[in-house]
Amino acid sequence: MSDVTGAVLVFNAGSSSLKYQLVQPDSGSVLAEGIAERIGDEGSSITHEQNGESVTETLTLDDHLAAVRRAERFFADNGTDLASAGLTAVGHRVVHGGRSFHEPTLVTPKVVSEIERISPLAPLHNPANLVGILAAQELLPDVPSVAVFDTAFFHGLPDAAATYAIDREVAAEHAIRRYGFHGTSHEYVSARAAEFLERDTADLNQIVLHLGNGASASAIAGGQPIDTSMGMTPLEGLVMGTRSGDIDPGLVLHLNRVADLSVDEIDVLLNKRSGLRGLCGENDFRTISEMMDAGDDAARRAFDVYIHRLRRYIGAYAFALGRVDAITFTAGVGENSAVVRARALEGLEGFGITVDDERNSLRARHARRISTDDSAVDVLVVPTNEELAIARQAAAVVAAG
Ligand code: AMP
Repeated sequence: MSDVTGAVLVFNAGSSSLKYQLVQPDSGSVLAEGIAERIGDEGSSITHEQNGESVTETLTLDDHLAAVRRAERFFADNGTDLASAGLTAVGHRVVHGGRSFHEPTLVTPKVVSEIERISPLAPLHNPANLVGILAAQELLPDVPSVAVFDTAFFHGLPDAAATYAIDREVAAEHAIRRYGFHGTSHEYVSARAAEFLERDTADLNQIVLHLGNGASASAIAGGQPIDTSMGMTPLEGLVMGTRSGDIDPGLVLHLNRVADLSVDEIDVLLNKRSGLRGLCGENDFRTISEMMDAGDDAARRAFDVYIHRLRRYIGAYAFALGRVDAITFTAGVGENSAVVRARALEGLEGFGITVDDERNSLRARHARRISTDDSAVDVLVVPTNEELAIARQAAAVVAAG
C-alpha cells in the first residue's frame, strides 16, 4: 500500500456528483480516486479506485456528506484512515471566485460566507462546491481545506477584455464582467507547454485551447492571460458539448417574448440542450465522428459549426497577441481528436502554422509537438491535470501558513 502522508485530497463537487482524488502533490502520483454520481436522486452510485482495484456500489446517497462518508469508508477498507493519515490538505475546486478571490485560499468561516455570498454568479456550481467543503470539514476537521478558484487565473485580464459594453452602473452594481473559467487548466497547461519547449513562460505568447465537454480558449502573453472565451458565466465562447457558447443576446429576448420560454427554460436550453447536442443530438465527439463517417448531415454540421467558432477565436487571439509562439490543445477533445486539431489549424501555413499529419495522428498520453519542424508556431498537445494543479496549489497555501 502506498504511503499517503503529505497527500492532498482533491474534491470537485458538482450539483449531483462528487469527484475526488488522493494525490501526492510533489510526484503527482494518484493514490486513489473516485466518483459519486446522482447524489440526492434515485440510483446513486459511487466508484472508488485504490490499490489497483475498482469497486462500484449502487446505494442511496441523500447528499454530498453521505458521499464523503461512503468514500471515507472505502479508504478505511483499503487501510487508509483519512483523519489520521497525515494529509496536507483537502483542495476544493470552486467554480466562481467573483471579485473576492484571486488566488487559492485557506477556507475559514469567513471564506465560506463569502463563497456563499457570490453564489448567485454561479448558481449551479458554487452551492455544490460549498457543500463539498462543508462535508470535508465535518469529516476531517483537523485537515485544512483550501479553495482553488476556476476564475482566479483570469483575475488580471486587461480591463478592455474583461468589460461588457453595457451600462457601467448596472454592471458595477451586479458584479457583471468577464471572469473566465477553466483557469486552473489554462494555467497548468501553459506552464507545462513552456516546460516542454524548455522556454520561460515570461518569453512566450500562447494560445491554449481547452476542449472538453466544456470548452474555452485563452490568449496568454508572458504568462499573463490577456483574453479568454468564457465570460461572466461558463456559457460564453466556444461551441461546447451541451452549451451554446456565443449567441446574440437578442436571441434570449426572442425566446422569452416570442417562443414564450421562461428564464429557467432558456437556461436549460442554452446550458444543456445546445452546443453539439443541440445541433445533432450527441455531445460526445467519438459518437459524432462515427455519425459523420456514416454520412449523418446533422453531425457534419455540428462539427463544422464547432470548428468555425474555434478558428474564429484562434484568429482573434493571434491578432491580440501579435506574435504566437505556441498553440496548445488540451482536455478530452483537444487531447484525443486529431481531426479537430487538424481542421482547427488547416490552411494556416501563411501564418506560420503547419501541423504534421503523422505527428498529429499519433496517440499518446504525454505532452508532444504536432507541428512540423519548420512551423514557426509550435503546436502542442498537453494533457491537462486539474486535480494535480489543485493539489499543488492547496499544498502551497498550507506550506505558506
Ligand atoms: P473532458 O470534459 O475534458 O473530460 O472531455 C470529455 C469529452 O472529450 C467527451 O465528451 C468527448 O467528446 C471527448 N473525448 C474523449 N475521448 C475522446 C476520443 N478518444 N476522441 C474524441 N473525443 C474524445
